[in-house]
Amino acid sequence: MAIHESKPFEILRFLVFHFILISSTTEFMSPASDETVFLGIDVGGTNIKLGLVSDYGQVLAASSFATQAQRSVVETLIELEQAYERLLEENKISQERVVAAGIGTPGPIDVSQGMILQPTNLKGWWNFPIRDSLSELLEVPVTFTNDANAAAFGEYWLGSAKELPSLVMFTLGTGVGGGIIVEDFCLEGTHSLAAELGHICVDWSNEARLCPCGVRGHLEAYASATAVVARTLERIKSGERTSLQPAGLNAKEIAVAAESGDSLAQTIITETAQYLARGIAIVAHTIDPAAVLIGGAMTFGGNENQIGRGFLQTIKTQVANSVFPEIAQALTINFATLGSDAGFLGAAGLARLHYYQFQPRGST
Ligand SMILES: [Zn+2]
Repeated sequence: MAIHESKPFEILRFLVFHFILISSTTEFMSPASDETVFLGIDVGGTNIKLGLVSDYGQVLAASSFATQAQRSVVETLIELEQAYERLLEENKISQERVVAAGIGTPGPIDVSQGMILQPTNLKGWWNFPIRDSLSELLEVPVTFTNDANAAAFGEYWLGSAKELPSLVMFTLGTGVGGGIIVEDFCLEGTHSLAAELGHICVDWSNEARLCPCGVRGHLEAYASATAVVARTLERIKSGERTSLQPAGLNAKEIAVAAESGDSLAQTIITETAQYLARGIAIVAHTIDPAAVLIGGAMTFGGNENQIGRGFLQTIKTQVANSVFPEIAQALTINFATLGSDAGFLGAAGLARLHYYQFQPRGST
């Protein structure tokens, strides 16, 4: 009985203690300065983007160059170093101001070892210790993650989920990527395979579509740009009437056709939203996030376009029908806003986060 009576006081003491601790930590972790600069690098199959980002998240300078996937990683790192030095020089930023760097690369990777493993679209980078090599080259600590996690962190720090405590991001492109951020924590998982949201099962039937990973029914087999085109071509082949031409078909043409009233294109987009909503409902009940964002190249025009807005509305309606009402009422579902800058911004943001976490107290 005495324990029960004292419990509210214990809880109060606990809350006060943690409030003081969290407040002081937050203050310590965000000593935003005009001087400190972070380098963010986003390695894509086509381009490598790099940007110098201030403590406040302002882009001071940015550039990009072609990846040339077959070239050796060492040659690419030399070009990266030159591009970095040019950025500093052209924008009159002293190298001493750059205190940390972050890099996001396509998976598979091993975050704990700082290794790129064997990404299919970057043969020249296989089995390379990117984190330590880059750190030696640039003479700053380097934070390493996969490209989808970096993009998610960018949206969390500066984009659609700015000032929200958590987010789950689905990136729709050639495949379906994902990132999960909860209160500054970027979920990497035991094997650096957390947030592989494209491989959530959304169809358990025997006829389910085959995912590129070899398993049937995964979201990527329905909601990637590749899958959307494949699903459309199958329907055209089966004789459905449409204005779409099969040769060289892409997701953008499907959005344009839907806008001009093509019913097959409209059906494909609605069904894509429904499959995506199944995936979102699963993570909504797993994470209970503040926001779910849809990013990547395939957003059917996003918020700027009637078809994009309809796509988003179908997702929202389907999710609301599938999750607890408390989750549905509070959950923000929206498009990402940073576009292709999200990756280098997020990489810089993660570098910033780790830089302040590892600074001895009182040293800044
Ligand atoms: Zn899969």
